[in-house]
Amino acid sequence: MTKFDVIVVGGGHAGVEAATAAARVGARTALVTMSWENLGTMSCNPAIGGLGKGHLVREVDALDGIMGRCADQAGIQFRMLNRRKGAAVRGLRTQADRSLYRKAVSRTVASTQGVTVVLGEVTDFVMSGSGVNGVCLRDGRSLTSGAVVITTGTFLSGLIHIGSETTSAGRVGEFAANFLGERFAAFDLQRGRLKTGTPPRLDGRTIDWGAIELQEADDTPEPFSALSDKISNPQITCGITRTVDTTHRVIRDNVHHSAMYSGLITGRGPRYCPSIEDKIVRFGDREGHQIFLEPEGLDDPTVYPNGVSTSLPVAVQQAFIASIPGLERTRITQAGYAIEYDYVDPRELSPTLEVKSVPGLFLAGQINGTTGYEEAAAQGVVAGLNAARAAGGSAGIVFDRAESYIGVMIDDLVTRGVTEPYRMFTSRAEYRLSLRSDNADRRLTGWAEGWGLIGAQRQTAFRQWQSAFNSAVGLLKSKSISPSLAKRFGFEVNKDGVARTAFDLLSLPDVTIERLAGVWPELQEFDGKLAEAVTIEAKYAVYMDRQRAEMDRAIRDRNLKLSSEFSYQGLPGLSNELASKLSLVRPVSVDQASRIEGMTPAALALLAAHARKSC
Ligand code: FAD
Repeated sequence: MTKFDVIVVGGGHAGVEAATAAARVGARTALVTMSWENLGTMSCNPAIGGLGKGHLVREVDALDGIMGRCADQAGIQFRMLNRRKGAAVRGLRTQADRSLYRKAVSRTVASTQGVTVVLGEVTDFVMSGSGVNGVCLRDGRSLTSGAVVITTGTFLSGLIHIGSETTSAGRVGEFAANFLGERFAAFDLQRGRLKTGTPPRLDGRTIDWGAIELQEADDTPEPFSALSDKISNPQITCGITRTVDTTHRVIRDNVHHSAMYSGLITGRGPRYCPSIEDKIVRFGDREGHQIFLEPEGLDDPTVYPNGVSTSLPVAVQQAFIASIPGLERTRITQAGYAIEYDYVDPRELSPTLEVKSVPGLFLAGQINGTTGYEEAAAQGVVAGLNAARAAGGSAGIVFDRAESYIGVMIDDLVTRGVTEPYRMFTSRAEYRLSLRSDNADRRLTGWAEGWGLIGAQRQTAFRQWQSAFNSAVGLLKSKSISPSLAKRFGFEVNKDGVARTAFDLLSLPDVTIERLAGVWPELQEFDGKLAEAVTIEAKYAVYMDRQRAEMDRAIRDRNLKLSSEFSYQGLPGLSNELASKLSLVRPVSVDQASRIEGMTPAALALLAAHARKSC
C-alpha cells in the first residue's frame, strides 16, 4: 500500500487544482485519474471565463491556482465582455485551443513538486471507522492518505443520451465510474441526478464563412493571470449565425424524439444553458436563436457551435444544422448529446468542502451540483487546501461571501443546495462592487500567503505589485488642489472650499490619469496596468462606504419578519420565477427567504424594504 497525505480522484478542472493546491501547502499528493490525456480535458465548450466565471478564474489565480496561467497559454480569442460597463461586472473570456489547454495543464501538473500522477480507476474507499483514509483501484492497488478529494465530474453513473439511444459513459468515448457511483450509495448521503448537454461538433472546412458575420478578438488581449506578461498565441476570428424558421420547424416536428422530451432523462438541466429544443419549446422562435461558431484550435478544423446543445437523434441534428445560414453543407464530426449523472447534495458538506458525516472525504466540482470548469477549479483549490490541512491536523479554511466569489459559491451550495446545475453569475454576490476581478489578488493573495498556498514566483510578483499600487494610491492622495484651481483645470467640482486630492478627482466620471498628469506631470510615470488599477480603485472608492453600510444593514435585515398573507406576485421588481417560489415557500423571515434557491441580493433588498414597511 502506498501512502500519501492527500489523494485526489479525477484529473478534470477541480482535480488538477485540488492536487496542485494540496502540494503547494506541502502535502504529498496523489492525483488518480483514468489517463494522462484527460488531465484538463474540456468536456464541452473550449472556453474559459465569461461573466462571473472570469471572476472565479482571477480568484483561482490569486490563490496561485493554475487555470488562469493555462488559459493564457492556450487562449486563441480573448475578449473582455461588458467592457463598456463598470469594472465590477466585466468578464474576461477566452476561446481556448483545446489541445494547447490540455498540454498546458499536463505540463503544469507534471512540474508541480509533490504531485504524483497515478493512472487507474478508483472503485472503493479505504475506511477507518466512519472516516475515509484511502482509495482502492480497479486493478487491485490501494493507496492510503490522511484525506481524499473526489472530483469525478459527470462520471458517477454517467449515461449519455442521443435520441432514444442510451450509453453508459462519463463523457463521449470515456467509461462511466459505475463502481464508484455504486460505492457512494453505501454512504448515507442525499444524492440526485442532474443533466447537461453539448452540441454537435462541425467540420470548419465545410462552413461557408463568407455568409457569416465575423467576430474578432480584442486588439490587445488581457491575460487572466497576474504572472502572464502578455498573450503570445495568434488570435482567431469566430463566426455568428442564427437559427431560422426551417430550423425551428425541424426541431418542433421532432421534439418527441429528443431524449429530454421523450421522458428518458430524469435529471434537471442548467436553466441558463438550455438545449436548442428547450429554447424552441420554452422561448419560441420569433427572431431566431444566435449561434457562435467557435474554432476549437489553431491546427484543428473542428468548430463548436455554441448555442445548439441537443439530445435529438443524429439525423435530426443533421437536418437542423443544414437549415442554418452558412451551415448548409456542413459536416457533423461528432453528434451532440445529453449526459445524466449522479451528484451529491452539497448541503451534506461543511464550508471546507468536507462531507460532514464522513471525516477525511472532500468533494469538489460537478459532483457537488455545479456546472462549468471555473466553478470546478475554484472548489478544487478550496478542497485541496482543506484536505491538506485536515491531513496535517490543521483547522479548515472557510471563504467568506463578503470577500470572494468563491465564498459566495460555496456558501450558496452548502446552505441552499441545488435543484439544477449551479453556475456563477455576478448577481449572486451581494458585494460585487468590492468583489471585482481586477482586485482579486489584493483580496486574496496576501491572505493565502499566510497558509503557505502561494509559490515563490507569485509571492515576489505580488509584493512588487502591491507596493507599486500602494505607492501610486499614496501619491494620488498626497497631491491636492483647491476647488477653484480644480475648476480652472476643467474638473467638475463644487466650489465648497474643500481641497480635492488627485485620488478624489480620479473618482469623477471621465477623469483619467492623463488628465491629472496635466496638473501633476509626475503621474505620467504610471504604466498602463497601474494607471488602470488605481483608476478603478478611485472610481469605486466612493461606493465602498455605502457598501459597508449595506453589509451592516443586511445583517440586521435577516431578522425581519415576512407576513404569510403577502402577495409576492404584485411586488414590483421581483421576477415571476422568484415570486412563484416565494408564494410556494411562504418564508417567515428574510433570513429564510435568503435560503431559497435562486434568491438574489437585489430581491432580498426588495423583501427587506417590504418587511420594514409592514412593521
Ligand atoms: P471533469 O472535468 O468531468 O473531470 C472528471 C475527472 O474525473 C476526469 O478526469 C475523469 O477521468 C476522472 N474520473 C472520474 N471517475 C473516476 C474514477 N472512478 N477514478 C479515477 N478518475 C475518475 N459546463 C459548462 O459550464 N457549460 C456547458 O455547457 C457544459 N456542458 C457540458 C456538456 C457535457 C456533455 C459535459 C460532459 C460537461 C459539460 N459541462 C459544461 C460541464 C463541464 O465539463 C464540467 O463542469 C467540468 O468539466 C467539471 O469539472 P470537474 O473537474 O468537476 O469534472
